[in-house]
Amino acid sequence: MVKTQRKNLRVGLVDADLLCNGTRHPNLALLKIAGYFRDNGFERRTSDEVTYEGDTYELLTNESNFEELLSFDHIYVSCVFSFTLDDPPLLLTCLMQNKSIAKKVHMGGTGSYANLSVEEGFAEKREEDMHRLEHDAFLNTLKNSSGGFGIDMCSQMPDYHLYDEYVAMMEQVKKSPAYFKDYKEYSIGFLTRGCFRRCPFCVNKLERKAMPYSKLSDFLDNEIDENTGKLKRPYIYLWDDNFLASPYWEQMLDELIATKRPFQFRQGLDERLIAQNRRGEDMARKLANANYHGDFIFAFDNWFDRKLIVKALKIWKFYCPKRETKFYLFCGFKQTEKEDKKFQKDIAEIFMRICVLMRYGCLPYIMRHENYKKAPISNIYVQIARWCNQPGFFRNLSFWQFCYKNQTYWEEHTLGREVKGLKTYEEFMEDYRYGYYSEIGLCTPLRTVFDFLEKYKEHKKMFLSFFNMSFKQMINPMLWHRDVEIMMEGNKYVMDSDFWANVVGNPTNEKVLLKAFYTHAEEGMLDNKEKSESLMAVLKQYKCSEILRIIEDGFTPYEIDKKDISQFSDFKDAYYFVPMKLKGCGIKNVDYSKMGYLLQKEKRKDVADKKYGENHMKTCAQLGLCHFEKCKANPNALGNIFIKLTERERADILPKLCLYIPYVQNYFMGGATDDVRDSILSILSKTTQIRRRSNVNTIIKTVKDAMEYEL
Ligand code: SF4
Repeated sequence: MVKTQRKNLRVGLVDADLLCNGTRHPNLALLKIAGYFRDNGFERRTSDEVTYEGDTYELLTNESNFEELLSFDHIYVSCVFSFTLDDPPLLLTCLMQNKSIAKKVHMGGTGSYANLSVEEGFAEKREEDMHRLEHDAFLNTLKNSSGGFGIDMCSQMPDYHLYDEYVAMMEQVKKSPAYFKDYKEYSIGFLTRGCFRRCPFCVNKLERKAMPYSKLSDFLDNEIDENTGKLKRPYIYLWDDNFLASPYWEQMLDELIATKRPFQFRQGLDERLIAQNRRGEDMARKLANANYHGDFIFAFDNWFDRKLIVKALKIWKFYCPKRETKFYLFCGFKQTEKEDKKFQKDIAEIFMRICVLMRYGCLPYIMRHENYKKAPISNIYVQIARWCNQPGFFRNLSFWQFCYKNQTYWEEHTLGREVKGLKTYEEFMEDYRYGYYSEIGLCTPLRTVFDFLEKYKEHKKMFLSFFNMSFKQMINPMLWHRDVEIMMEGNKYVMDSDFWANVVGNPTNEKVLLKAFYTHAEEGMLDNKEKSESLMAVLKQYKCSEILRIIEDGFTPYEIDKKDISQFSDFKDAYYFVPMKLKGCGIKNVDYSKMGYLLQKEKRKDVADKKYGENHMKTCAQLGLCHFEKCKANPNALGNIFIKLTERERADILPKLCLYIPYVQNYFMGGATDDVRDSILSILSKTTQIRRRSNVNTIIKTVKDAMEYEL
């Protein structure tokens, strides 16, 4: 029998949204299809002049040659966004309209049906799309990793290289490398799919729950970069619709944390569950302490959820007071030209939600449904989004100020006029009545706000109060403040106002205070003069050995990161001169370079100054003697008290502050031997260990010497 050899296959993959620049992240379905072909021995084809002897697959882009399209055996097109199909890119039109090509096209994705209502056939389209690839006749001729036929979208490992050539080319042409980091630095997947909330505007509107989807190992990439020896994709991002709604959220979160890779949820997390789930406190604590990548993003889609959101925010901000927290604010849904009331309500509800977020120190991110374009003054959505979605503006300007700032910029830079600064609405109106703007006109943002306030005069006062809200004035940390609770020797103690009024001289409260300090449970006390004075008074009375006994009660070792190991050239610069300079220099937010300069005893190069400043500032913060955040330092109450002590008093307190450092606690609780010290240092490279060992020894010796001379 003569065996006939089949011809080599050529497969094209099209990311439809990419063709019209509608996306800046890879299409996961395409990555998985590419991975499936790769696993079946297909070679990824590039534009290099190479002869391919087997089956191939490749990404088709706007550069693709029409003649060549005819040579493909199959073309898989994925389209996520409906706006891509509103004005389809040329390649997509060619694929769909040329009869001989169209029959080879397999098209899917939410773009063609996401905005349909149930009456318009959403359910059928959704069902078809969710199983399209698993039912695909050609894919079903190939094998999956478990030996069966057909692609398994849950477990299929993506081919993270599909976009390599496109990205390399685009980086050269225009965009910066950072623009393409989603293509290069992340493992991508869904741990769950679906949601139980059934929001009418969402593709999950017919789903009933969040179901398990891929395992982390199905998409976790372990490729090593040959040049650096490090992971090529050190981060993870997840597309889960409502991760926290899954009953397995904790197990999956633990798995993510165990990878030690920074991760993030791109679709936002459901903040309401922190209030609704009986384990909401644990959810918030675990998430807040995880190695989360970037800002935490939740959703506040409906004003009627405000009570739940506020309840959840009180919990969330308690556990996560410092990290940036953003909320997607959905708006513009079902707007029409004629429904003024609905429009006013939608705008008012955006600002009412913003008001809640401002009070809790969170940032909004406006997400507009495409119906916004039909609203009576649709441009106001655009201006609100421009204001909210650029945190620099949102943090520093009210909405009115933002719109007026556009006007001043335009007057100054386009018209070449001298402008005096931002006007209030009242000042603007006065000049408006005098005809100032009939001469020069209004820029679009200001015109939009002006038209809006004129059109809805009867609610002008209310809208003006919204438009004048200022983030810096509204934020109120007392809204999420809780009295710290400390467990000691099996008992619970609440550090409320009564507690603070009776610390010094009350042996139990003194120990509770020390417990709170050494467990880093009440770091706010370091910024509070009265509380820091109480702490200092108590520290003076207790010996290091007594403090170690307090630390020992219920001690769990800290997780130590490389950056937590101290580094300094002159210890006294760190514990004495940094807080002294911070107090005396009169500058806020001192950066590394400035601190290096302030500590300078002799002239150094700028780069050396910066490093010196960084090392000594960080060590000072480890001792609790300055406020350190986002690479900037400010004086704190404890540091201010410490520098006023006599030299002898400082020598007595310093070893006790050394015990505040987490790795130092690990060292003493671990047995205080050289082996323990070396195992702490072992997270550093060999050469760094050599450099840091003497610093660590200095700190340990400071404590040990003090204990040696204890009476
Ligand atoms: S909560 Fe989010 S994921 Fe769930 S249905 Fe609503 S919009 Fe969709």
